[in-house]
Amino acid sequence: MSRINIAIDGPSAAGKSTIAKNIAKKLGYVHLDTGAMYRCIGYKCQMQNVDYKNDEDMIKLLANTEIVLTADGKIYLDGQDVSQEIRTNEAGMWASNVSTREVVRKDLVARQQKMASEKGFVMDGRDIGTVVLKDAELKIFQTASVEARAKRRFLENQAKGLKEDYETIYRDIELRDYQDTHREVSPLTRAEDAILLDTSDMSIEEVTNHILELVEEKMK
Ligand code: C5P
Repeated sequence: MSRINIAIDGPSAAGKSTIAKNIAKKLGYVHLDTGAMYRCIGYKCQMQNVDYKNDEDMIKLLANTEIVLTADGKIYLDGQDVSQEIRTNEAGMWASNVSTREVVRKDLVARQQKMASEKGFVMDGRDIGTVVLKDAELKIFQTASVEARAKRRFLENQAKGLKEDYETIYRDIELRDYQDTHREVSPLTRAEDAILLDTSDMSIEEVTNHILELVEEKMK
């Protein structure tokens, strides 16, 4: 086997994107951050004052939306670079809201499957191993305690100059966990064949190396 597809799912702020990016770089694969796509839709709803619960309006919005994820990690929404704007805690909540809607999921899943129609992808999200890339050769369910995730996100935001306090981040992670695991359409669950990885006490390097070892085993 020369190339495989890798699915990384798990709750918010578990470090999935960072790890997926590292793995893709090491292997020369393409990283697809599907959360960024839900964030774009949430951001657009917020900007244009569109009710995400109105399916008709959402279908129109989706039909007129272009999302481009570049190889260097930039996110373009309708031609505008929104890489920074979609990273706030608030944008994460909006993403979680729009992601509960079936019309949104159907549209974005189809886009993701089209983008990764070949092997050599590392995709991270909530439903990659269970829906988007059911046949991925390696599936990881990456998690960490709420405390560890809130702390990481707080430090990350501070480094980016985003002013959000720890308590708000902690509360929103809990809220998003609840919403993501309880929604009717594709709730966040671990695929039966996914490997559980609790990263609460692991460094980024340790997680990256562990997954690279798992890839090596799969390639044998
Ligand atoms: O991963 P990230 O935190 O950027 O995702 C933002 C939100 O988008 C998540 O809280 C989740 O509700 C939603 N999402 C999803 N399915 C995916 C990726 C993200 O429902 N594949």
